[in-house]
Amino acid sequence: MYRTLSNGIQMPQIGFGVFQVPESICEQVVTDAINIGYRLIDTASSYQNEEAVGKAIHTCGVNREELFITTKAYIQEMGYEQARQAFERSLRKLQIDYLDLYLIHMPLGDYYGAWRALEDLYDKGLIRAIGVCNFNATRIIDFCNNVRIRPMVNQIELHPHFQRNEELAIMQDIGIQPEAWAPFAEGLKGMFTEPSIQEIAEKHQCTIPQVILRWNIQRGAVVIPKSIHKERMVENLASTDLLLDEEDMKQIATLDKGVPSMLDLSKPQEVRRVYDYLNNPVLTTL
Ligand code: NAP
Repeated sequence: MYRTLSNGIQMPQIGFGVFQVPESICEQVVTDAINIGYRLIDTASSYQNEEAVGKAIHTCGVNREELFITTKAYIQEMGYEQARQAFERSLRKLQIDYLDLYLIHMPLGDYYGAWRALEDLYDKGLIRAIGVCNFNATRIIDFCNNVRIRPMVNQIELHPHFQRNEELAIMQDIGIQPEAWAPFAEGLKGMFTEPSIQEIAEKHQCTIPQVILRWNIQRGAVVIPKSIHKERMVENLASTDLLLDEEDMKQIATLDKGVPSMLDLSKPQEVRRVYDYLNNPVLTTL
């Protein structure tokens, strides 16, 4: 199952995220995911596990061209020269010579300068698609009016508790593919025990996580669930076999709380928290 990006590149609609997968187990976890059938792997320089992802890519036995590798430049890597160097650093750690998708991780810092570096790397054929994360609709409209190449992907928090219908419509209008991060909202706020999702799961004889993923897939989003457990990786990937009907979709639509569960960059304390994380001594040496 693939989505076609605005530049014609085919992106798998379900992928595997490695946020909070410790470096020590990450190679094995990513190897398991690839063996199970995942082809899109989503990492970031700030996750500090690109080297382990790289080892898995090299030893998994699947051709590089069959994989779709995404990584991201973090806030301290914004600005033209910093982003160019960050790209090279990530490629080195991942032991690959091109990226399928490179993303600006946050709309913070000199992300316009960084974007110009991404545009140049894209022109040189070193990145197949470029995109952003955590850009709300206002920011994406403004950004698209001020860049040479529009982002092909916007990776955003997107799950039944935060459905962002208006923003998705705007992104569709502009030709930007939405990619759902934390498609389970990390299981917070009762996501895995929602009675109406449980009801739908019983009706289709499947699981709650499968319904959650399939709902986002049917809305056209790419999903990148994370799990360190093989049986859950299998379960999540099998969401592609499911088909929800109109009634199911309507029922899930009622669960929207209209506010993020995980990250709200419109809140000063959140932006402070992001910068506090950045000032973590380990990250500053990336
Ligand atoms: P998530 O995928 O919503 O949830 C992961 C949590 O759900 C883990 O605790 C996992 O536990 C559990 N889980 C997974 N499958 C399950 C299943 N079938 N049954 C029960 N529990 C299950 O959260 P996320 O990792 O934060 O988000 C996914 C990916 O999005 C990340 O890995 C990362 O690649 C990306 N992301 C991007 C940004 C950004 O700013 N761009 C921010 C956050 C995340 P176990 O691992 O123990 O199985």
